[in-house]
Amino acid sequence: MLIVLRQKNDQPLITHIQNLLKKKYGCESHIIGSNGRVIAVPGDTTMVEIDLIKNIEGVRSVDRVDRPYKLASRERKDRTEIKLSHGVTIGTRGTLVVMAGPCSIESEAQLDETAALAKKHGATVLRGGAFKPRTGPYAFNGLGEDGLKFLKKAGEKYEMPVISEAMNEAQVDLMEKYVDIVQVGARNMQNYDLLRRLGKCRIPVLLKRGLAATLEEFLLAAEYILAGGNPDVMLCERGIRTFEEEVRFTLALGSVPALRELTHLPIIIDPSHAAGKARWIADTSRASVAIGADGLIIEIHPRPEEALSDGPQALDEAHWTECMEGIRAIAGAMGKKLA
Ligand code: PEP
Ligand code: MN
Repeated sequence: MLIVLRQKNDQPLITHIQNLLKKKYGCESHIIGSNGRVIAVPGDTTMVEIDLIKNIEGVRSVDRVDRPYKLASRERKDRTEIKLSHGVTIGTRGTLVVMAGPCSIESEAQLDETAALAKKHGATVLRGGAFKPRTGPYAFNGLGEDGLKFLKKAGEKYEMPVISEAMNEAQVDLMEKYVDIVQVGARNMQNYDLLRRLGKCRIPVLLKRGLAATLEEFLLAAEYILAGGNPDVMLCERGIRTFEEEVRFTLALGSVPALRELTHLPIIIDPSHAAGKARWIADTSRASVAIGADGLIIEIHPRPEEALSDGPQALDEAHWTECMEGIRAIAGAMGKKLA
């Protein structure tokens, strides 16, 4: 960390800052350069509260040379590959994984029918929500554990690993019995008790970007899970909240190359919650593949108009077929194969 002061050789200020760094954070520091304005703090400065130092009268700027997340950082390693059942691996260079399924599991029959559709057109991971974070309290909020039982059964029947969302720590206990990947929804990206619990979990986690989270906050949320001892985290960009109202959320496609530089974790895109309309999802999916995502997670439904949640963005078989054709074409052009 480098702390730059406004005045040259302000000894009382230098002493104050050096004492604070030592006493509060255990950090050694020293003046560098000839004009007595730059304090260097070598080593691990992740504990130092940058705004507290910036707030000190006479400090011009504070720069963290190291990133505040260590385990998630690309400096740590090049890529994380996550191995799942049925031979599916996520994050391998040159491969693309497609996860698909209904927003919510509505019945055993609906899930079975949707899983068959997912499989038929090339998805290799089955999604299905059993605990639903709904904006209003009166909306359908999922079948709970029964839904997870149907999901596990469908995953076995169609030979696909399965993913479902947990909203709290108790639900993670259930997830460990039934699913291959736990999803953290956008609204829970900063639910730190949940993230800590997932750190103790032995199954992979798909962490969705919060509606208004910066990439640094996103990576720090991933860091919680990694720091708890679970190395298998993938990041999911699903659109952020902007002033735009025509599309459901603004898909931050540019975050893919940015995240690729910052982290080794696999990057998944959710075009469904971003676009919000079934007819826009094939286009959004192709763009997501072209920009280099490691995978996609897409909502499909045999009869979208009957869906109990997110019907407007669910792909029926015709849209789903078109979407997968586009995904295959762009993946092929990029020399990627479907995982
Ligand atoms: C979902 O995947 O169904 C969901 C609710 O996603 P998000 O948390 O991104 O809104
Ligand atoms: Mn949904």
